[in-house]
Amino acid sequence: MLEVEIDKDSGFCFGVVTAIESAERELGKTDTLYCLGDIVHNSLEVERLQSQGLRTIGHEEFAALHGKTVLLRAHGEPPSTYATAKRNRINIIDATCPVVLRLQRKIHKCYKETSSRNTQLVIYGKKGHAEVNGLVGQTDGTAIVIEKVGDLDRLDFNRDIVLFSQTTKSLDGFREIVGEIERRRSGGIRFDYYDTICRQVANRLPNIKKFASSHDWIYFVAGGKSSNGRMLFEECLKANPNSFFISEAKEITSPLPAGIRRVGVCGATSTPKWLMEEVAERIRAINRNFYTIDL
Ligand code: SF4
Repeated sequence: MLEVEIDKDSGFCFGVVTAIESAERELGKTDTLYCLGDIVHNSLEVERLQSQGLRTIGHEEFAALHGKTVLLRAHGEPPSTYATAKRNRINIIDATCPVVLRLQRKIHKCYKETSSRNTQLVIYGKKGHAEVNGLVGQTDGTAIVIEKVGDLDRLDFNRDIVLFSQTTKSLDGFREIVGEIERRRSGGIRFDYYDTICRQVANRLPNIKKFASSHDWIYFVAGGKSSNGRMLFEECLKANPNSFFISEAKEITSPLPAGIRRVGVCGATSTPKWLMEEVAERIRAINRNFYTIDL
């Protein structure tokens, strides 16, 4: 008998759910709504919303718009985006996640308080990621972005350091960076750090490891652009070597190998529930002739 289970902890975090609800609410009133950047790193969900009138634009196109309505996604934006909107009389629907917004304010406050003291403000995150750009924008572009321990050579360990994290980074990676700065800073140098990692993502790591190891076979569903998806998939793979990354149901083309009984379907914070349901249905359909399916 084949069992197919969808991980109840996978799927959109509340920040993404709220942004999509805001878009759908607005699209109920208007034919076209602009969104600055992909609303979520999942092309199928973006296509679904595009069919309702959502138009994804980049910063260049945004700067050329006048008098339109533009949704800002959960990742948040730097102050320069709001300044452009004001200049061009663009109506903003701000769907910045409240967790990101709090972090932006915290970084801005810290920057104002420490910039005259020559303190280095450091962000552990992915260079060029939209959320990180929004955070760096709170410091007039002066924050130093660190992706890994190797980047720490860019810091001056004879000057004070304050460290923050992008909300979606791993806790282990953050702890490693903290440990390394502690080890290398000169005596008398102040080092303050703030664990600003969102638990909506951090808690998924232990959950997904447990889910992956309790199944014979895993289909991990996420868009190719989702960094959170790549990171969670790596954990699945460590917990269960029979883990496979797919972006849509049609990528499953053959029945499961003999002996597989428990199949798990899970995904990233950017994976829609409807897509995981499609994948589960596809698994059942393809394996129907080979197994008794437990629904
Ligand atoms: S991962 Fe956390 S901080 Fe990021 S959008 Fe989702 S809820 Fe907000």
